[in-house]
Parts: sequence; structure tokens; C-alpha cells
Amino acid sequence: MNDSTQTTRREFLLKSGALVAAGLLANPFSSFASVSAKPWTVGEIIDAFIAQVPNAPFAQTVDTIKVGSRDTVVTGVVTTMFTTLEIIRKAIELKANLIIPHEPTFFSGQDETDYLLSDPVFRGKYDLMEKNGITLWRNHDYVHRMRDDGVRIGVVEELGWTNYYQAKSPVLNIPKTNLRELINHIKTSMGVPAMRYVGDLSQPCSKVLLLPGAVGGRRQIEGIMKEKPDVLVCGESNEWETPEYVRAANEMGIKLSMIEIGHSASEEGGSEFVKNWLNENMPGLPAFHIPSGNSLQIF
Ligand SMILES: [Zn+2]
Repeated sequence: MNDSTQTTRREFLLKSGALVAAGLLANPFSSFASVSAKPWTVGEIIDAFIAQVPNAPFAQTVDTIKVGSRDTVVTGVVTTMFTTLEIIRKAIELKANLIIPHEPTFFSGQDETDYLLSDPVFRGKYDLMEKNGITLWRNHDYVHRMRDDGVRIGVVEELGWTNYYQAKSPVLNIPKTNLRELINHIKTSMGVPAMRYVGDLSQPCSKVLLLPGAVGGRRQIEGIMKEKPDVLVCGESNEWETPEYVRAANEMGIKLSMIEIGHSASEEGGSEFVKNWLNENMPGLPAFHIPSGNSLQIF
């Protein structure tokens, strides 16, 4: 994290109150608010989150406990995108024994560990959590499938685009800018040093298709076909899919560009959203959002 990131996070914290005022942060458990300092178990926190999600709990979901137990009494929570060793150590320092990441912990979508059990990298992460009594619950599917996508709401807030946001829509009409300025805006508001793009830096941009994370080439291209945005802003994509589609469009003279923020930064606002939700619904329970940054460096 650099200085500009810290400033951004501070500003973000100040601004997040606006989400509550706007009714964007659901608070279906406000009746609990009067019961202060209630000891929460992991299971109670999970159940409370799931209770506000339509058609939940899901029969098929990656949102399971990967380490620890439902019965753990929670002393504090850390939310993040990726549970790195650094995040685990910070959680221990903060005496937070519940980590809620958005993404996998053990390097695959389903967190399959059968082939990793004797691997020192796997053991290093798992054992550090287990020895320190940490429980880890992934919250990916449930936060995305709230009445409105909690990750997108958090990301829109982080980008300062709340005024241009229409509930449940990935399309935002921002004040007219160009691709260069749009990239600069994302760099500044998200604390990202550089990002990859396809297109002409001087291309005018107003209509943004915002698809954080990695939704897949087909969904990105179908979104472009349906919405005809000036620019797709996404987390990541396979190089042989959407970037080639956008390049081909450019070769035909179609004004279209795309920006890849990087997966982690593109959804980190969602972890801030979950932390804010905990503050709202579990008053008195210490909750911290710690951005995990990108594993891939730029040289
Ligand atoms: Zn996501």
C-alpha cells in the first residue's frame, strides 16, 4: 500500500456513510443494534449475512468455511480480497479471529486441497491460521447476489461514481472524458500504479460498462454487444478473448476500448462494503478492511 492508497482509503471511509444514508447498505437486523456487545459466533455472522440474500442459502456455493469452525466466538473480523500471509499476520496482530476474503485461499475456485496436503506453501498458510485459532469464511457468491451486487456498490463508491449509478445496472454514464483521463482517475481512486488497456488513449469516453473481477470473455463481449459502451472497465480477462474482440473492433473503426484494472483492485471495494455491513449489523464487533493488493508486479 502506498501513500495515495492510504489517502484514498481514508476518504473512502469518510464517504461510506453516504451509502447508509442512501439506503444502499441494507440493515435488516437493525433490531439487533440495541443489543450492544453481543458475542457473535462465526455461524451467526454467516447466517445473518445470508438471511438478506434472495433465494439463499444456495445449494451450490464456494462460500464455505475453509479453516476453523462455525462455533468460534468472534473477537474481530478482517475483510479482504485475497488471504495472503501478510493479511493473516495482520489479523493476528489485530486479534481478529475471523477472516472473510472474497476470493479463494488455496489457489483454485473450489479451494481444492486434496493435492496440496503435503505442500509447504499450502501448509504455511493453513497451519498459520489453524495454530492461531483463525476461522476463514469465503464470501463471494452471497455478496454478489444481494438484492443489488454488494461488490459493485462498493466499487462504484470507491470510484466516486455513486451519482451516476443506477441500481442493478453495470452501465454508468459518467461526465465526458477520454480514455487517458479515465485510466488516471481509476489509478488515483483505487491506488493502482498501472493497468493494461486496449484502444486509443484520446478516445472520448462517457458510457462505461463496469464488470469488476473476471466474469469471463463471453459475458464481457455479450455486455459490449448489448450495451454498446465506449469502454469496458473490468478486473481481468483472458488475453485471447475480450482484448482480441476489442482490438478487432478498433481495426474496423468502431470506437471501443477496454481497461483491465487487475482482479484484486477491481473488487477490493466489495471488501469495504462487507466491512461496512459488519459495522452496521454487528455493532461493537471490531471489523477491519485490509486491501491485499496484486500478486503480479509491474517492472
Ligand atoms: Zn467477485
